[in-house]
Amino acid sequence: MIHPAELIQRKRDGAELTPDELAALVLGYARDEIPDYQMAAFCMAVFFQGLTAAETHALTDAMVASGETIDLSALGRKVVDKHSTGGVGDKASIVIGPMVAACGVPFAKMSGRGLGHTGGTLDKLESIPGFRIELDGDEFIRQVREIGMAIVGQTADLVPADKKLYALRDVTATVDIIPLIASSIMSKKIAGGADAIVLDVKVGDGAFMKTLDDARELARTMVELGRFAGREVVCELTDMDQPLGHAVGNALELHEALDTLEGSGPADLTELVVGASAHLLALSDLGVSLEEGRRRAEEALSSGSARELYDRWVRAQDGDPRREALPQAAVIRPVPAPGGGYVQSIAATEVGLAALHLGAGRVRKEDAVDHAVGVRCLAKRGDLVEQGQPLAEVHARDESSAARGLAELESCYRIGDGVPERKPIVLDVLS
Ligand code: URA
Repeated sequence: MIHPAELIQRKRDGAELTPDELAALVLGYARDEIPDYQMAAFCMAVFFQGLTAAETHALTDAMVASGETIDLSALGRKVVDKHSTGGVGDKASIVIGPMVAACGVPFAKMSGRGLGHTGGTLDKLESIPGFRIELDGDEFIRQVREIGMAIVGQTADLVPADKKLYALRDVTATVDIIPLIASSIMSKKIAGGADAIVLDVKVGDGAFMKTLDDARELARTMVELGRFAGREVVCELTDMDQPLGHAVGNALELHEALDTLEGSGPADLTELVVGASAHLLALSDLGVSLEEGRRRAEEALSSGSARELYDRWVRAQDGDPRREALPQAAVIRPVPAPGGGYVQSIAATEVGLAALHLGAGRVRKEDAVDHAVGVRCLAKRGDLVEQGQPLAEVHARDESSAARGLAELESCYRIGDGVPERKPIVLDVLS
């Protein structure tokens, strides 16, 4: 029998809790035996006092133990997965899955929905008419065996403690706490069953982690949690100071994913998907080096095999893989440059919020997503633009929301005289 108030007090005062105490807290919360207000107080105590490595491991174990876990051993192969901590315009998983599967490596991913200003892979996939994000466990495994990949929604039984805790953190200013983010993400990855995982930790204005130091700490914590659970983890730190690629918004991002699979995607997105796929191939049971992984990943794009695999994957989940099937917004308006010069910065969070306000995301949990709307950032950091040249395009459902989107987008761009420093998309890699 634990007394939550005593545990909260000890954490508040900087003590280390035991694995049994943390398990009782997490499992009690998942079973509705511990109320939201006590769990919120505990999370806030963690914000101020942090968790030790042992506590973070114990918390993650308890989260995994709160629900079912997926056993992928029936596939008889080393299965890989990829996860991003959340960004603006991040459609990378939709490209990486078909790339690694086309190279013969099984890819099994459970994905989430959009959160705040960041989009979610499931919402993007649901812009494909007919696409089914719910597969039962047997179907999931069968599809990975037959097609080479599946991306599905998390079942309610997978880490139910995180589902509850995440919703609570979202409304109690306790999301951006490194050990809580690490255990939230890694508990879901561990329960999802993959043997090797590439994590993409976003860094910058549009990400939860604003600085490289924080991103490195989160990455180190997640790599360690993976190792502790017997999984191989490589963590890439990637730039989120501007949106990834050009498109932000569900169907628009699908078009850009298809462009990339066809070899004509934006440079930053292409570099990111090739790099991440190379790491996944190097971690797989193919026994190839990172360089060979990169060569095979590039070939999957240039040969068209990744594009073909995309079609087979989408059809297997009852979706229509044709571009023409994707919804299109009724109103498309350009955002003209107020003056000439170099694009110094694009406020990624604000672009994400502009897309959200157009209807591409949810303001409240129960809101419906409009898959057709969003933004295309035509000019990116470092581009030279002339006055009046379109910086971006707003895709809206009607004129009034287009006008609002236009005003929001205008204030996202900063244009100046100097050439801004070039930044690579991959800032660091930890393993
Ligand atoms: N993504 C998650 O799944 N959990 C967090 O806590 C933050 C981002």
